[in-house]
Amino acid sequence: MTASINFAELSWPEVRDLQGGPQVVVLLLPVGVVEPHGPHAPLDVDSIISLGTCARAARALAQDPNLRALVLPPISYGITDYASSFSGAIGVRDETLGALVVDVCSAAMKAGFPRIVIVNNHFEPEQVATLRRAVAGLNNGGSAKVAYLDLTRRANAERLGNEFRDGSCHAGRYETSLVLAERPELIDTAKMAGLPPLHVNMPEAIAEGRTDFLAMGMADAYCGSPSEATPEEGHERFVTLSQMLVDLVRDLARD
Ligand SMILES: [Zn+2]
Repeated sequence: MTASINFAELSWPEVRDLQGGPQVVVLLLPVGVVEPHGPHAPLDVDSIISLGTCARAARALAQDPNLRALVLPPISYGITDYASSFSGAIGVRDETLGALVVDVCSAAMKAGFPRIVIVNNHFEPEQVATLRRAVAGLNNGGSAKVAYLDLTRRANAERLGNEFRDGSCHAGRYETSLVLAERPELIDTAKMAGLPPLHVNMPEAIAEGRTDFLAMGMADAYCGSPSEATPEEGHERFVTLSQMLVDLVRDLARD
């Protein structure tokens, strides 16, 4: 039996042995949303990317004698107002998402695991704001050391390719490549190949008050260039994403 990287696959005595044990434990909390991602990709894209990033980072750290990174079960429900005109958008209210994140992290802290990294790949501004608020609240007083892997920060965004950096990025080349690398059976590659590139500056559209995919001109619930996606690019992006997460985990463990 090899040690699992997934928290919920441990038995309770294994968790008890980690509490107060010699290794610094850092928990990784993947967050996504159930949201339409083009006609070629599954609703679960963002959770798949968050989980894939967490799993790779945990595996990369598995040989570290002083550190143990464990992946919590994901929070796969998020805020999806922009996609609500499409079939399959199953969202929750911001207070629901915020309360769930706070409750899960508070329970982990109470159990002796104050170091937690939230790994989110759904960038609807209300989702990001809710997660940031939750992190700020958790870190305000008490022993929590909760971090948010902020991929939209310029220094990080610039490492993730032009499409991501330019914000014309929803079920396009970037996200589709990542899913092709992790769960290829979930991409309809014939449909993908036939999708024309569609440039939509999402941050600008949102700033102008167009907060619905249809109003943004995304008639098929995607933008960017899904037909250019490849599994090779997905693997490369996962290397970068998991490297960012490993760096953040090491920072948190040193604190
Ligand atoms: Zn997405």
